[in-house]
Amino acid sequence: MPVKPPQRLPVVRNVAALRRAMAALRARGASVALVPTMGALHEGHLALVRQAKRRAKRVVVSIFVNPAQFAPNEDFGSYPRTWDADLKALADLKVDLVWAPTVKDMYPDGFATRIEPAGPAKVGLEDAFRPHFFGGVATVVAKLLLQVAPDFAMFGEKDFQQLKVVTAMARDLDIPARIVGVPTVREKDGLALSSRNAYLSADERKVAPTLHRVLTECAAHLKKGDPLVDVLAVGRAKIERMGFVLDYLEARNAGTLEPIMGPKDGPIRLLVAAKLGTTRLIDNIAV
Ligand code: AMP
Repeated sequence: MPVKPPQRLPVVRNVAALRRAMAALRARGASVALVPTMGALHEGHLALVRQAKRRAKRVVVSIFVNPAQFAPNEDFGSYPRTWDADLKALADLKVDLVWAPTVKDMYPDGFATRIEPAGPAKVGLEDAFRPHFFGGVATVVAKLLLQVAPDFAMFGEKDFQQLKVVTAMARDLDIPARIVGVPTVREKDGLALSSRNAYLSADERKVAPTLHRVLTECAAHLKKGDPLVDVLAVGRAKIERMGFVLDYLEARNAGTLEPIMGPKDGPIRLLVAAKLGTTRLIDNIAV
């Protein structure tokens, strides 16, 4: 019996090789979906890959820890990197191509262009605490969308403001990829999967699901008609009592992310960011 060859997963590391690989993948007009990631893949990322496979004939996953979206005091150097496990997971899902540019390929000497998103990038929330972040994300995502030229690009609702910023950016720049949002994948106890969960100590891991629990409690109170300011005040106090340093817990218009006074101002999205020790966690849910 002939032995089945091991699953081959092509990995390309520079733009010229990517162009050649994409020309081959696109043969006979096959549709392409891109899943941008920073690696350290978990079931949340893999859910994006599975959705991508449903949308398109070919699936490209990019792995690039983007220095442009980290501030100097943030965790670029220590961000988890699990290359071998990532490739194995992607090979198991029969992804067609991994695009893993080097920093030099993404930002060659003399690189001098940056996208400055406004709209949902300038409504506070993440921008208030990470002012460099959405410029770095928009710039790298624009580059990825131009490099791969996919028909679809998958983004997690876990990073809800980022999903809005990327959607607006692609629309505003007439990038033809359709941006697709994918619901957040959670642990059984409600904690949203995140590469940064690896930083949590055993004790912190026990406390971490508080964020999702408070979000669901707040949503239930809002649905009952309790006043927004009171609901948020109670939610904030609970989060802080559990030992988090709260960046924000806010209710926003789910479409624009603009502040709201109450349910009359449109569908509500609750968004939270808080630090547990040195680990910063974010989450959000629909009301
Ligand atoms: P990252 O590698 O953290 O930049 O994430 C890459 C993509 O995966 C982004 O679109 C994230 O929103 C998405 N993602 C991360 N965690 C989750 C999750 N728990 N559920 C769904 N999508 C996620």
